[in-house]
Amino acid sequence: MGRKRNWTLKRQLLGGRVIDSITNCWLWSGKTKNEHAQLHYNCRALGVHRVSAHIYMGFDINSPLQVLHKASCPNRHCFNPEHLYIGTQSQNIRDTVNARTHKESRKTSCSRGHRYIDGNWYWYEYRGFRKRICHECNKIKSKEWRDKHNKTGDTENGRHNSDAITW
Ligand SMILES: [Zn+2]
Ligand SMILES: [Zn+2]
Repeated sequence: MGRKRNWTLKRQLLGGRVIDSITNCWLWSGKTKNEHAQLHYNCRALGVHRVSAHIYMGFDINSPLQVLHKASCPNRHCFNPEHLYIGTQSQNIRDTVNARTHKESRKTSCSRGHRYIDGNWYWYEYRGFRKRICHECNKIKSKEWRDKHNKTGDTENGRHNSDAITW
């Protein structure tokens, strides 16, 4: 894109910008589609992140690469070029996982309020997301499970099963 086109794009971009005075994030007050902040240029819908990266970081708007958020920026919709970086989708997923793991590591107790001390918890990994599991909570959960199954006549079931095996 040439210089002149950049200028009109920039005017549109900054025209819809609202700056968060605390985080310095750039938020979009213009049109959105499916929560994606967009501006229209030459009959083309462009994501404001991509436009921002194009104008301020020299990013090629047609590039297959993605414009991503730094984990330090709390606003998913922010398009401040200082809070953005260029990367791939897999990089984005990895960074999100790292940020969540970091957040999880900073917790000092579980959701039931048991304090995390060495040896009373372990990491659980699910689809790349790491979660801390508390041993005390595990005990409570398995007791609940046992109680529930005793009430519903576990012995009947057990007998039925063993009959089936003999047969
Ligand atoms: Zn931001
Ligand atoms: Zn717990």
